[in-house]
Order: sequence, then C-alpha cells, then structure tokens
Amino acid sequence: MIKLIETVTEMRLAASLAHKLSQRIAFVPTLGALHRGHESLLREARRHGDLLVLSIFVNPTQFGPTEDLSRYPRPLEADLERARAAGVDLVFHPTSDEIYPAGYQTFVEVRELQKGLCGTSRPGHFAGVATVVLKLFHIVQPHVAFFGEKDYQQLQLIRRLVRDLELPVKIVGMPIIREPDGLALSSRNAYLAPDERQQALALSRALARTREQFSHGERDAHQLLATARAVIAESPSVRLDYLELVDAETLAPVETTLTQSAVLAVAAFVGKTRLIDNISLRA
Ligand code: AMP
Repeated sequence: MIKLIETVTEMRLAASLAHKLSQRIAFVPTLGALHRGHESLLREARRHGDLLVLSIFVNPTQFGPTEDLSRYPRPLEADLERARAAGVDLVFHPTSDEIYPAGYQTFVEVRELQKGLCGTSRPGHFAGVATVVLKLFHIVQPHVAFFGEKDYQQLQLIRRLVRDLELPVKIVGMPIIREPDGLALSSRNAYLAPDERQQALALSRALARTREQFSHGERDAHQLLATARAVIAESPSVRLDYLELVDAETLAPVETTLTQSAVLAVAAFVGKTRLIDNISLRA
C-alpha cells in the first residue's frame, strides 16, 4: 500500500523507523508530473531499497521570477497512480511552507559547478536545487538516491555536494529516457504545441548527428559544435540558449581537441518552453 506523507515530522518518523529496522531507503526526488523518465529511476530504485520513497515537490527556490513555477503541471492523482505501479512505498509531498517556513533564509551553493550552462541563464537555480536536495536528504535519510542524466549539471553538482558535505548517501545517475523519435522525456514537453514538438526534435537530432561524427573519429571541438549548431539552425523557431561541449566531470568547456570523456549539452527555447538535452561522448 502506497502512503502519502505531507509533513516533515511524519516523513522523518517514517525514515527513522526504517533505519531502526535496518531497512535500506532508496529515494527519487522529483517535481512530479511523472513520466517514463521518472519511472525508470523508480524501477531501478525499487531494486536497491527495502523502502522506496518518492518526493513530489515543485521547489519554488529553483525557479526564477519569470519562469514557469505557477503553471508547472501538478497532476497529483495521476502521479500517485504511476508511483503505485512503480512500487513506491512512500510519497513525500510537502507544501512550500512545510519546507520553507516563515523566516527561512539558509542556502547552500556548489560554487563552481553551479556556474555555466544552465547556471548562466538561470541565476540562483542551482542554489535552490542544492538546498532542497540537502534538506530532502536530511528529512528522508536515504541510503541511495537516483537522479537522471537528463539534468546532467544537476547530477554532477549533487555528486559534488554529497562528497563535499560527507553526506551518507550513494548517488546513482540514470540514462536519459527518450520518445521513439528521440525527444528526451520532460514534464515540460506538455507545454509544446504539436508544431513546436516537431521543432523540438532538432535538439536530439543535433546531438545524435554530432555523436555520429564523433564515432567516425572527429575530435575537434569546433567541428563537433559546428555540426550540432548547423542541425539546430535548420529549425528556425528553435532559439538556442547554449550549446557547449564540456568535460564530463568538471563541466569545464572543451576548447580544442577532445581527449577526455565529454558531454555535449544544449538548452533552447521552443516557443516559450525551455528544453534541455545532452549526450555523452566517451573517450
Ligand atoms: P524533475 O521532476 O524534472 O525534477 O526530474 C526528477 C528526476 O528525474 C531528475 O533526476 C531528472 O534528471 C530525472 N529525469 C527527468 N527526465 C528524465 C528522462 N527523460 N530520463 C531520465 N531521467 C529523467
């Protein structure tokens, strides 16, 4: 039976009880509006824990003032149904006031990894992410937590946060789940009109084309980026936010020749919807 918990006190109690019973807690934090990407994290997490906890929290501190906080989809009933099917035991679904009560003012920052890529166009976003994930880890007390490579910068930042603050949790990164035509699954895909969805395919197409070139031996960063940029330019209604080739761990830009494992990361607006995607280029 799946259980819905809405308060920090109750969640901490459930977590403490699991620890007392020597149960392993596996945790998947999300903003909700669950799709097959989230489900793949949940199904893997199910294999790693005795107690599977899913959090659904549209974290206000990771949204900028002009972003989509108020219209972010919140289909709780459908989410609970999907969670049940994926074998979730506990759904932690707090209100904003529960996580950020009056007077709240503490934030953590991962100084270098929060810069660049999405950090440039979304100032404050990663401080919001790092803070809420740290809080959720304290409340849920997981042994292992699952994050998607879809949000690659977020995954690296959380790995760093865990190392730097000695948090007793193992972080597992999970591959990007895509639609059959290549579009990376995202809760924000629901915003796309049919023609925009068609245009949005330029992102995954650009990444796939570049990986093909990489697999044929191309290692020049400029050449690889030019290939991706040219594919995106074929879709005039896709407005590029960034397209970067970065070191897979430090996220430092690769300027010349690719000798290490790297990630090609893209963010773009299709209409008003901001989408991100990335692909690994392994040395
Ligand atoms: P979100 O609800 O968008 O914050 O996502 C919650 C978690 O699911 C994050 O760790 C995401 O990286 C992951 N996720 C979102 N979309 C996908 C996807 N298409 N494939 C794999 N993981 C995903």
